[in-house]
Amino acid sequence: MAELGSDNFDQELTLSLLGSENEALDQIEAAIKRIEDGSYGQCEDCGKQIPESRLEAIPYTALCVRCAAQRKKATNYKPNEEALALGPGLG
Ligand SMILES: [Zn+2]
Repeated sequence: MAELGSDNFDQELTLSLLGSENEALDQIEAAIKRIEDGSYGQCEDCGKQIPESRLEAIPYTALCVRCAAQRKKATNYKPNEEALALGPGLG
């Protein structure tokens, strides 16, 4: 029984890791589509140009820093991209 429990734990861990990988892949695919239709680098929410420094840090982001922060506030979800942009130790 102990082994079974451990297997379940590993499986859940693997599934959650795969989940975030799929999310990143979705964002990358969406970014490629934006490159194709010419809207890459434009904020999805406010339509303004996303600063180059942010695109360098997070090439697949669809939002400028301000809109990303607003969405974070509004939905309380934790986008990994914000942690990446701010660097470790500030989140
Ligand atoms: Zn914006």
